[in-house]
Amino acid sequence: MKLSPRGAMDFAQDLKSQIDIVRVISDYVPRLRRFGNRYSGLCPFHNEKTPSFSIYAEHQFYKCYGCDAKGDVFNFVMTIEGLTFWEALKKLAEQHGIPLPKQSQASDDKTRLRAALYEIHEIAAAHFQANLGANNAAPVRAYLKQRGVTQDSAEQFQLGLSDKTGRTLLRLLEQRGFKPDQMVPSGLIGRGEDGSLYDRFRNRVMFPIHSESGKIIAFGGRALDPEDKAKYINSIETEIYKKGSVLYNLNRAKLAASKQDRIVLVEGYMDVIGAAQAGVTEVVASCGTALTTEQIRAMKRHSQNLHLNFDPDAAGAKASERSISLLLDENMHVRMVELEGGLDPDEFCKEHGADVYRARVAGAKDYFYWLADRARARYNMREPQGRIEVFQFLLPAIQTLNDKLKRAAVASDLASYLGVDSGSVLEQFRKMAVDRVERNIAPAQADPAKATDRILLPLLLSNADARGELIGGLREIAALQQGPTAKIYATLMAMHEAGDPIGFNSVHERLAPEDQERLASIVLDPAAVPDSGEDGAGLENGRACLNALLRDEREARRRELKVRIRQAEREGRMQDALRLMSELGE
Ligand SMILES: [Zn+2]
Repeated sequence: MKLSPRGAMDFAQDLKSQIDIVRVISDYVPRLRRFGNRYSGLCPFHNEKTPSFSIYAEHQFYKCYGCDAKGDVFNFVMTIEGLTFWEALKKLAEQHGIPLPKQSQASDDKTRLRAALYEIHEIAAAHFQANLGANNAAPVRAYLKQRGVTQDSAEQFQLGLSDKTGRTLLRLLEQRGFKPDQMVPSGLIGRGEDGSLYDRFRNRVMFPIHSESGKIIAFGGRALDPEDKAKYINSIETEIYKKGSVLYNLNRAKLAASKQDRIVLVEGYMDVIGAAQAGVTEVVASCGTALTTEQIRAMKRHSQNLHLNFDPDAAGAKASERSISLLLDENMHVRMVELEGGLDPDEFCKEHGADVYRARVAGAKDYFYWLADRARARYNMREPQGRIEVFQFLLPAIQTLNDKLKRAAVASDLASYLGVDSGSVLEQFRKMAVDRVERNIAPAQADPAKATDRILLPLLLSNADARGELIGGLREIAALQQGPTAKIYATLMAMHEAGDPIGFNSVHERLAPEDQERLASIVLDPAAVPDSGEDGAGLENGRACLNALLRDEREARRRELKVRIRQAEREGRMQDALRLMSELGE
């Protein structure tokens, strides 16, 4: 039996009333500060130095005034974990020990497809692993050993082998009852022009890629045949795999990263395995893509100290530069791991041993010193022109720093590191480093709300007695049907009439974006009078508001009648004038 959508929504409502959005979010946003019913912290969805992210405990709602992220506890978990609604529901229920209704396996189509894709990846990983363990795979095992991958690592990283024939995984999945409309979206099975299906990975060493929570969501495959044009191929993006938001090995590295408060970023799968074998377990790689802001934020949740260990070749250096400016943008503290001899981490470990590699990681140089060394190698510091060039070389990187004090400190620090401690060039350098153009995010603009809205809307959203008493009267107020908040009142009243549950979020989600904005700016305004109506003062204010609106309404009606009476008299329509006058009398 399927859980009806209605039943599921009831369960979601129920669940929401049992969990506290502040506690859920505090797992992701450290150092929340409390201001009455509002909590404030640094937004996990955009980079900022001063908090513009607020959680409203009373309304169980969060909103960022910098990037406009907003919603309820489900929205938060969906966004930060990349889950569907159903997955977020399940996760929260499990976390809080609240049993899911039995039937909730039946969810929506998207969640069912994702569940199938996870299963397909599990089956594929086991299949590839079995291939690598088979008798005929001895040469591949020998190859891995020669590359320095121990048996233990191969098991720990669940390495596998896709076979040459190109149909085995397909047959296996068919046997397990998977349909083409599940296999093809998994990215592991391709469809030829003639419609026939085939395995996308053939004759490759397979590296399972896990989500941060440890589910296999994709594969990287390294070619075994030297004739193969693509040395590495990766899974295509699927419903469960978004390249730009996944880091290879983060699922295993995150504990060590938090404990040691540092995270090592390398380029490839083999580098990760090499570093981990050397005892540097807090190591991750971006999976064959340029580093993204999302990936940086995923690392930052575990440590802000990043040791960058990219290949020192030209491509590596370029990748470094791009990545570094992104990393600095996100306030990461970047250090550069330098390995001599042009070796990447995996080769270096093999050649010089684990101890030397660990020492290189531990002794990694602060990015700015590393940069200064490069500048010194490039320009002649003894010449005045050279000094100018060195500073010009360094300025852009310093200006990436968001913190003005930090820019000043880094500029001074670098100058003394370079041995330039006086002169006009230094003065100019310091000044330019400090006075970069600040990039400020302007706070969202909203219509100035009327005082009545500020009193009525929070009250109506949070107090059922107030709704029962006031809504009837408010319906008669024409002003509420015309103003900028007309749609909000109309929605609220319609929901009240239908007997729907009313709260900030349930009303909010039925509104168009501009009205959502308006409602949030009125109800969530920190300057608004906080009122849950418990002490009765809120309701008292609400009554006063309604009376004032009724008075205004009568006044406006009187004025309008007088105008119409005068007009009727002028035009000689005495019957009309008399009727209007009796109306005025009432
Ligand atoms: Zn934000």
